[in-house]
Amino acid sequence: MTMDFEKIWKEALVEIEPNISKANFATWFKDTCISKYDNGVAVVKVPNNFARDYLADKYYKFVFGALRNLIPNIRHIEYIIVQPPQEQAKKPLKKQANEEQMGFSELNMDTEANLNPKYTFDSFIVASFNEVAHAAALAVSKQLGSLYNPLFIYGGVGLGKTHLIQAIGNEIRKNNKNAKIQYITSEKFANDYINSIQNKTIQAFKEKYRKYNLLIVDDIQFFSDKLKIQEEFFHVFNALYDGSNQIVFSSDKPPQYVVGLEERLRSRFEGGMMVDVSQPSLEERMAILRIKMQQKFFNLPDELINYIAENINENIRELEGALNSVIGQSKIKGRILHLPEVEQIIKKKVKPIKIVTIDHIIKTISIYYNIEEKNLTEKTRRQEVVKPRQIAMYLIRDNLKISYPHIGKSLGQKDHTTAIHAVKKISGDIKKDKRLEQEINNLKDLIYKTGV
Ligand code: ADP
Ligand code: MG
Repeated sequence: MTMDFEKIWKEALVEIEPNISKANFATWFKDTCISKYDNGVAVVKVPNNFARDYLADKYYKFVFGALRNLIPNIRHIEYIIVQPPQEQAKKPLKKQANEEQMGFSELNMDTEANLNPKYTFDSFIVASFNEVAHAAALAVSKQLGSLYNPLFIYGGVGLGKTHLIQAIGNEIRKNNKNAKIQYITSEKFANDYINSIQNKTIQAFKEKYRKYNLLIVDDIQFFSDKLKIQEEFFHVFNALYDGSNQIVFSSDKPPQYVVGLEERLRSRFEGGMMVDVSQPSLEERMAILRIKMQQKFFNLPDELINYIAENINENIRELEGALNSVIGQSKIKGRILHLPEVEQIIKKKVKPIKIVTIDHIIKTISIYYNIEEKNLTEKTRRQEVVKPRQIAMYLIRDNLKISYPHIGKSLGQKDHTTAIHAVKKISGDIKKDKRLEQEINNLKDLIYKTGV
């Protein structure tokens, strides 16, 4: 029996594509084909081991499912790596630059809704660190106002929150030109409100914010301690919510840790769907770099990609910034940079390590959990202090490697067994509790960003 492999693979791809984001699809399925089918085993050619891992692990279900519909007897898929001819490398770098300009021509903002058209679901790369948030955002864009309302996405800086919440707006805009959409930062909302008081246009302000079908409020941690603005926002929220309009929020931490957030607003936030974005693993950072590199029509060798991914581990914005610098300088030089040149670029980008002290950690934790510093270092077993104190012990041990007796002494004259217990407990809990893990990551961020 002869089989038309090309046709079968094409049909399989048509079936696979809708299940995967465009960016992921374009990268992992590029230059793939079926090369052989024998006795229930299909052999799929892939261009590199990253594509093989993605197809064989992450997308196994889709690939196998699609092929089984086309070849009912199939039992198994094997992958072989065949590097495609390096067309890219042969092209003059200038030409690559032109292509990039064409592909990413000046973007026109949707000024009315305040959406950046670049932030779409198609351009959003999905991996395990953000897949829950992505799924929730996508679901909201399909069932506006009725499924997860409000949607609350939290996580550290540069991890894709703004991208994701604007993607909801862009998706709605694409499908419904008449939908009333507004993206706004909480700071801008606050300024709008203050201006409307000064200009005596408060009525217009109220009407404006109550008419949206989708209101996206970014970085709501800036509402912290602004009680008058929170009150105004509370009314806007209720009006929209009661009219079954969708509200989407982002924040750098979960609502219960936004200091100075009114209880009734907090409980509104918590009443909907809360999802987090965490940090990408090394493999995920490499995958992101590869996808972004392809989108820029550029090809850097594995060695450089690995180096960047290993040394920039904070967030995606910085990862992309480093990639852009390396690509930019390669274009200027008319050749791909060498590793030592890349090392120089990354060295400049990675911030010098701040000096962190016990006092600094205690202070950061007391601010984050909104408790008094002295409560953390006092002898008390009050429940709201116990957990932050255990986290303090854990972070001090983890960051400063200080002895257990000393840690115990610094935090309320506890003996060393208490400190050992706390460190063990938190290390164990982090593995089971994603939210705790995120909290600790946020805290580490804060500690290092504000260290002395
Ligand atoms: P945050 O709002 O969490 O600080 P942003 O949404 O501003 O982060 O993301 C920072 C940059 O990284 C943006 O340019 C964004 O497009 C990019 N980015 C973040 N996450 C992803 C992703 N999953 N796929 C593609 N690009 C991403
Ligand atoms: Mg943001």
